[in-house]
Amino acid sequence: MFDKVLIANRGEIALRVLRACRELGIRTVAVHSTADRDLKHVRLADESVCIGGPNSIDSYLNVPALISAAEVTDAIAIHPGYGFLSENADFAERVEQSGFTFIGPRADTIRAMGDKVSAIHCMRKAGIPCVPGSDGPLGSHAETNLRIAREIGYPVIIKAAGGGGGRGMRAVHTEASLLTAISLTRTEAASAFGNDMVYMEKYLENPRHIEIQVLADEHGNAIHLGERDCSMQRRHQKVMEEAPAPGISAKTRKKIGALCSKACRDIGYRGVGTFEFLYENDEFYFIEMNTRLQVEHCVTEMVTGIDLVKQQLLVAAGEKLSLRQDDIHITGHAIECRLNAEDPENFMPSPGTIKRFHVPGGPGIRIDSHLYSGYVVPPYYDSMVGKLIAHGEDRASALARMRTALNEIVIDGIKTNVPLHQSLIDDSNFAAGGTSIHYLERKLGLA
Ligand code: ADP
Repeated sequence: MFDKVLIANRGEIALRVLRACRELGIRTVAVHSTADRDLKHVRLADESVCIGGPNSIDSYLNVPALISAAEVTDAIAIHPGYGFLSENADFAERVEQSGFTFIGPRADTIRAMGDKVSAIHCMRKAGIPCVPGSDGPLGSHAETNLRIAREIGYPVIIKAAGGGGGRGMRAVHTEASLLTAISLTRTEAASAFGNDMVYMEKYLENPRHIEIQVLADEHGNAIHLGERDCSMQRRHQKVMEEAPAPGISAKTRKKIGALCSKACRDIGYRGVGTFEFLYENDEFYFIEMNTRLQVEHCVTEMVTGIDLVKQQLLVAAGEKLSLRQDDIHITGHAIECRLNAEDPENFMPSPGTIKRFHVPGGPGIRIDSHLYSGYVVPPYYDSMVGKLIAHGEDRASALARMRTALNEIVIDGIKTNVPLHQSLIDDSNFAAGGTSIHYLERKLGLA
């Protein structure tokens, strides 16, 4: 096992990784920007290094500073968390070339999956069902693009091959707006992702977002840990997640899960990963693969009892997977609310000093957060300040526990989206289960 791991991230995920390292007896190095000296995990880590100024580009995205920090602290491996450099193949390559272990898949796997056109191509070959689409990047020939859209059938969606974070996509409902939509998405993609490649998919009108968690070692073993439903979204960004997905039978889980495990073996996947699907009329349609730990990994941990971060560290150290598919059992139901420092009405970020932080408790309640009373939420980073997770013997009990926990939690000093979660937990359609990816925006009057 690694002697020392450098955590190339901040906030709740850095703390989550630190805790897993501690349990495995691994020493930790925290890196932080000048704005993040007071982060909880920085205080708890064995060592810490300041790597640059508050802007991410100067610190958490500063590759030479991260590599130097690993060198001066004699770290063996680097955990990228999620976001920042976690899906950057060049970074993974630099880490390995500098003699450290990158805790994640091989750089070429990250590169292949990071380009959505190539990811879809790989998955089609591996037998994974995909959204009907252009089967490759769109060229500049107008007539050809019009023909592709006619064949797929309107509405269609134009997506950036290098897109992420819910950006770089545009739905098109009529032929008259197709060509403009393609050129607009192309221009946006070039400036946002440095890659103007776009492709076309059928726009599914009322799907759910259901994803499969996988875990693979470098010895050719791969298993799945069931699915999560992440349909509660605003601007294509997840707000609340749950496992298992309402209405998905054990038989369906087994079938789609086995396909994903097989695809992992086909592409030589290593580490934790997620196959994201849209799900409509009882069919799964692959949209992309995330080659990292995800924010919502906790709901899978709660229903399987497996610590995904510890598993991730073990397989990164070259160990053989000790779990077999038959060892994975789904017990009860788990729901996660992402806690954001934002105005619940207009979603504007709300940084500032936490005057009082009181965490809820009781059976089945878990909170992953770096907040503490007196902590100052800086304005420079993502507004997510933690996750509240409730597990119960069934969905109704998980919902009841989440309702109680949301009433108990106290985050004074900043605005948070707790009221939004409270209204969702009390929403009768959400309580019934299986709402689509558009439900939240329609409820908020945004769509
Ligand atoms: P990102 O990498 O930016 O997260 P994804 O490809 O994972 O992009 O898509 C994010 C979200 O966008 C999905 O969860 C869904 O809400 C919406 N979306 C993507 N593709 C389609 C599609 N073909 N039809 C309808 N909605 C889509």
